[in-house]
Amino acid sequence: MNTAPARRVDRPPATTVPFDVDSVRADFPILARTVHGKPLAFLDSGASAQKPRQVIDAIARCYEAEYANIHRGVYELSAKATEAYEGARARVQRFVNARSASEIVFTKGATEAINLVATSWGGTFLKEGDEVVLSVLEHHANIVPWQLLRERTGIVLKVVPVDDSGAFRLDDYEALVGPRTRLVALTHVSNVLGTVLPVTEIVRIAHAHGARVLLDGAQGIVHRSVDVQAMDVDFYCFSGHKLYGPGGIGVLYGKEALLAAMPPYQGGGDMIERVTFERTTFAPPPARFEAGTPPIAAAVGLHAALDYLATLDATAVAAHEHDLLAYATERLRAHNDVRLYGTASEKAAIVSFTMDGVHPHDVGTILDRAGVAVRVGHHCAQPLMDRFGIAGTVRASFGLYNTREDVDRLIGGLDEVREIFG
Ligand code: PMP
Repeated sequence: MNTAPARRVDRPPATTVPFDVDSVRADFPILARTVHGKPLAFLDSGASAQKPRQVIDAIARCYEAEYANIHRGVYELSAKATEAYEGARARVQRFVNARSASEIVFTKGATEAINLVATSWGGTFLKEGDEVVLSVLEHHANIVPWQLLRERTGIVLKVVPVDDSGAFRLDDYEALVGPRTRLVALTHVSNVLGTVLPVTEIVRIAHAHGARVLLDGAQGIVHRSVDVQAMDVDFYCFSGHKLYGPGGIGVLYGKEALLAAMPPYQGGGDMIERVTFERTTFAPPPARFEAGTPPIAAAVGLHAALDYLATLDATAVAAHEHDLLAYATERLRAHNDVRLYGTASEKAAIVSFTMDGVHPHDVGTILDRAGVAVRVGHHCAQPLMDRFGIAGTVRASFGLYNTREDVDRLIGGLDEVREIFG
């Protein structure tokens, strides 16, 4: 699964067109703006991707024509909004190939999804001495919730290392998983190094020991095909805003039987069956985990983002991103003062590097003045920074709208850094 080169197009629409980066760029209005008087070279999609007009319009249309609170509304607008919200759920189900729409829980994002699993599933089914396996590649969102659970329950966290290229050490993983392992919680793709984890082997080994698998797909779903049934993961989560959709919405996929056995994460409206002051019974999943008014327009926007992606030639998008990665790697490698972090053979379009003698923040600031937007710092992965003995990196992460010219702008910006610091 992890080695799949292309995004799966789950429902090839009649409108699929050959990939043409210029026409894709024309769909993203923000790419036409300037920054500090320079054209924008946006190389921070790993933090949050830009939005196509189709998503922006869908959200505007929702508020202009079909907005109301959902469920329980007897009037036309509420029924339409409910249909749109549940339609988005069905769209996500098809996108990740879940067995049923009730396996798709809307959350605020990947972070909330992981907290939900840690609190509800972990808090119920894990006890002192049970082991949860993480890796050194994890984003803080897939570390801290387990530490909070450890404080409450006394679970034990085990950490899989990476080699010097940033590749996941499958042999160490296999040695770490044992009879006390109850959960393996790993990132699908590293947000810092771009390393793609060997999902098939990870799941096989975990399941052979009776452990569940949660994949943090915040980056993985953007760069790799995801079929939760083929992967046989127990939980998979991601954020809409990194997938060209709006902020404020994310997804937790969970196998039906697991979700059905989990208690609510938060209490409130919409997640109940019957409330009395003596006793409350809860709605079945996914409503059980969606207390309160959900992000209705964001769900509509996410639906539009998935429809937008389905209009593109998936294989060509993957090839385009791969070309950007190879080109950026080659151009960065040509400079002796640049150190690349993350050169695993299975890698998504994310490059991290440092420049000798220059703090990443200074690199980022000078690049910004040249109109090049990159992220600098620890990228919410401090244990990974410690592993490589650095405080931070400069990270360029590519989206489907980036071009080789954006890479050239990055490389040109580094020349400006050298002129200032050289
Ligand atoms: N996991 C990974 C691998 C990420 O890259 C991110 C976002 N940087 C998250 C989790 C958290 O996502 P969010 O902030 O959207 O909840």
